[in-house]
Amino acid sequence: MVAHLDPLLSVPTETGPPSSGHRNKAPAHARDDRDRWLSARELDILTAVAEVALPPGHFLEGAGRETAEATHRYLSDIPREGIRVFQAALWAVELSTLPTKRRPFSELSREARLAALGGFEQSRVLPIREVLRVLLTPLKAMHFDRPEMYRHVGCRYELETVRDEKPRWLARVTDGREIEEDLDLECEVVVVGTGAGGAAAAYELASRGRAVLMLEEGHYHRRSSFNGRPSRAYRDLYRDKGMTVALGNVNIPVWVGRAVGGSTVINSGTCYRAPARTFAYWRDRHGLPRDFSPEGLGPYYERVEAMLGVAPASPLHLGKIAGIIARGAEHLGLRHHALTRNAPDCDGQGICCFGCPTGAKRSTDVSYVPAALARGAELVTAARADFVDIVAGRARGVTATLGAERTKGRPPRLRVRADAVIVAGGTLMTPLLLRRSGACLSSGMLGKNLSIHPASKVMALFDDRVDPWNGIPQGYSIDHFAEEGLLFEGSSLPFDVTALGVPWSGPRYIELMEKYPYLASFGFMVQDHSRGEVRTGPGGRPLLLYRMNERDTRLLQRGVEILCEVFQAAGARRVLPFVTGHDEVNTKDALARLRASRIRAGDIEVTAYHPLGTCRIGTHPARSCLGPDHEAHDVAGLYVCDGSAIPSSLGVNPQMTIMAMALRAAEILHQRLG
Ligand SMILES: Cc1cc2nc3c(=O)[nH]c(=O)nc-3n(C[C@H](O)[C@H](O)[C@H](O)COP(=O)(O)OP(=O)(O)OC[C@H]3O[C@@H](n4cnc5c(N)ncnc54)[C@H](O)[C@@H]3O)c2cc1C
Ligand code: SF4
Repeated sequence: MVAHLDPLLSVPTETGPPSSGHRNKAPAHARDDRDRWLSARELDILTAVAEVALPPGHFLEGAGRETAEATHRYLSDIPREGIRVFQAALWAVELSTLPTKRRPFSELSREARLAALGGFEQSRVLPIREVLRVLLTPLKAMHFDRPEMYRHVGCRYELETVRDEKPRWLARVTDGREIEEDLDLECEVVVVGTGAGGAAAAYELASRGRAVLMLEEGHYHRRSSFNGRPSRAYRDLYRDKGMTVALGNVNIPVWVGRAVGGSTVINSGTCYRAPARTFAYWRDRHGLPRDFSPEGLGPYYERVEAMLGVAPASPLHLGKIAGIIARGAEHLGLRHHALTRNAPDCDGQGICCFGCPTGAKRSTDVSYVPAALARGAELVTAARADFVDIVAGRARGVTATLGAERTKGRPPRLRVRADAVIVAGGTLMTPLLLRRSGACLSSGMLGKNLSIHPASKVMALFDDRVDPWNGIPQGYSIDHFAEEGLLFEGSSLPFDVTALGVPWSGPRYIELMEKYPYLASFGFMVQDHSRGEVRTGPGGRPLLLYRMNERDTRLLQRGVEILCEVFQAAGARRVLPFVTGHDEVNTKDALARLRASRIRAGDIEVTAYHPLGTCRIGTHPARSCLGPDHEAHDVAGLYVCDGSAIPSSLGVNPQMTIMAMALRAAEILHQRLG
């Protein structure tokens, strides 16, 4: 779920002011113990919000008590600080009408409540808009995640479950939840994390005969668990249910995976080599050798492409949005083409970001991890590495917790002794593990230098059906502006996820959602110069801070303008950039007004999928955490092979570069192990 549970507000009291009357009160027995984090009064307020934010349309039913109850249940296991933020948002809405109406929000008529929500939605002040978003995001998720809603707009809700095969290499996978006692293991190289970097490194070392043990905090989800339901994927495959948000002058959801395969399980399958300009920047700015150039990394990219089956997306499965974009781009003289992807047998099921149900997408759970296991590597899942064990300045192994989520008793400890340690927990988690371990601290750069490729989108309504659920969600591109740092890539989403991406409420929102079959969506990302930071937050979770600078804000605005023009040129009836003050850009005049205005970062809907750089490589120990060989400057035998090692924003989707660099680092480590 794309919730923005950012701690923007403090809670008035633990449960708020006493109740002054309940609307449609639910019987107490309808709630079990887990659900009692909202008081009855708070549930009433949530119901009052749901009724007017998600009213009935021509054929979609409206939300009410049931939606509020479902939201209450869904959020029952979110962290305490998330609960506080949600409650604060509820009370902010409830009390907002007292000064003008002399009555709380939940006691007003529907019309008055709708007007009050409109005030939040249209506000020029970001934190005020965010209050409403905190409430509406989970409400919308619960409201639209129902088979009948999908039926109403004519698209498929859920896939049939397939049966998993049982290959021999599965015998090398141990589920940490099934281990009852502390365990000691020994290997040559222990690899933490099985995403793009960890899996590629483990494969390379296992192929060269090394005894490799992979540890993964998430579980091994096979095809049978990919039923196409985003809500299930957010729960099982995304870190913290997809609720990680970078806080700053714009609050940006940043998604990463937590499963065998890491973020590759939930990614869109787009494959790019890093551009020459980015490598040149690394050499100039970070003094990196020519190994980091199109030629130097070329052989590693070739191996990655062979393993992933990288090829242009099949025209058969590009879907109608690709045709629309091609038409608009052609009209404007912009370069456009099908993207290259790692899904050779893809049949356009359209749900790459929620686990590919056909296994066509060669994420590392179906490519590098099985290949490493087939070459003798071992894997323990539900194994969260707590510390890298460092003795006399050298990494000697890892201490992990097995099945950390179990509710009874102390979870068992796993101690792994190894000659070398590879950390590949991803850009958000690697700095936290290294900080706990006292590693990579000497430069002061650990956790800093966070780039994210801020992304945005524009939607457009057409007279003809678009059927956005049919075809590859991200199969087409306009790369005309890539040198400027703007890359346009298609991204259509399932019905309920699209509903979350529209920051509206009330009748105009439902009217738009009823037109989902006619709604096209396309996205873009910025090669950012802004930098953020990952710190250790409450509960040991990552706390992200990121401030969008002026240059990147202007690029985001330019990206929105270009997409509006492309959709107009393609014949859209309505163009919807979701920029505050520019809800619709249907005409040339409206586009001129958008161009003439100076949009603030917080006025644009921004998301991010490519966090990089929080443990970067470099030649200077004072400015980087790792050497060009990926070994920590201050701990021998400790290597980092994931997105965190990438020195700067790439300008293209990163998975292939992370994998290519991991293969190279693993090769170096193999040679050193003798
Ligand atoms: C929705 C989405 C779409 C994307 N689309 C694309 C795309 O089309 N093309 C592209 O190139 N890139 C895409 N990406 C980005 C790409 O998938 C990531 O950049 C890449 O997978 C990152 O690799 P990594 O090795 O750094 O980390 P990850 O792949 O995130 O793997 C890290 C793994 O480490 C595990 N871990 C973390 N800490 C610990 C610990 N302490 N102990 C044990 N295990 C731990 C995590 O659970 C996770 O499984 C997308 C990402 C997302 C979220
Ligand atoms: S579009 Fe292709 S790669 Fe994506 S989920 Fe469907 S079959 Fe898999």
